[in-house]
Amino acid sequence: MDKTVTTKYYCHRSGVFKSKSKGERSLKITGSCKIDQYCPSFIRTVVGMINIEVTYCKTHLVHQNEIRFLPISTVVQETIAGKIESGIPPNVIIDQFRNETNYNIEKKNIITRKDIYNISAKFGLLHKYKLHDVDAISVDLQVKRFAQNSNKSLNPIILYKTQGTEYFPLEKDDFMIIILTETQKAVLEKFSSEKLCSYNPINKFHSSIQIPNKPPYRTTHQTH
Ligand SMILES: [Zn+2]
Repeated sequence: MDKTVTTKYYCHRSGVFKSKSKGERSLKITGSCKIDQYCPSFIRTVVGMINIEVTYCKTHLVHQNEIRFLPISTVVQETIAGKIESGIPPNVIIDQFRNETNYNIEKKNIITRKDIYNISAKFGLLHKYKLHDVDAISVDLQVKRFAQNSNKSLNPIILYKTQGTEYFPLEKDDFMIIILTETQKAVLEKFSSEKLCSYNPINKFHSSIQIPNKPPYRTTHQTH
């Protein structure tokens, strides 16, 4: 007897939305794509040695064909990943896809910043993901994002001074960010003395900063 492989594909809108969240985040603005009911549409394929048999039900019930719930195709996801890799900010990527309309609006024309963030995570490119094309705003958003994390030990920002704020002994116009990961902190605790020395190669400015209380070194966190 021939060996066959049977696969059944269901409508992606069918079924009940099951939240994986622990209640810390609200549901995405478009809502879940699930309709909380069953849609009868399906495709069943039986792949044999010499032919493929397909049975399908093309009738969708209870929902419309809404573009915002369509998945983003693999080709488009890979294109987006390539753009992130080369450092293009999300808002520019969104504009590029919006301008690509060819009379038919496709899913790629309405991708959101959240989609781009998810694709960055999926392709392991979060380190390349820029929150804003102005560097200072991008850094500020990232610092605020770290600060929102309920697990404080995952926040590597130990000092953040924006321009225009007071933080002795720095000048008002100085900008300073100190990032210390858990691993770096462990190394510092093991081998360092009580002071850190920094050197700015642009204005040849040397400064010593006293590490206040160790651990956890947190001194100021000025996010306006
Ligand atoms: Zn359906």
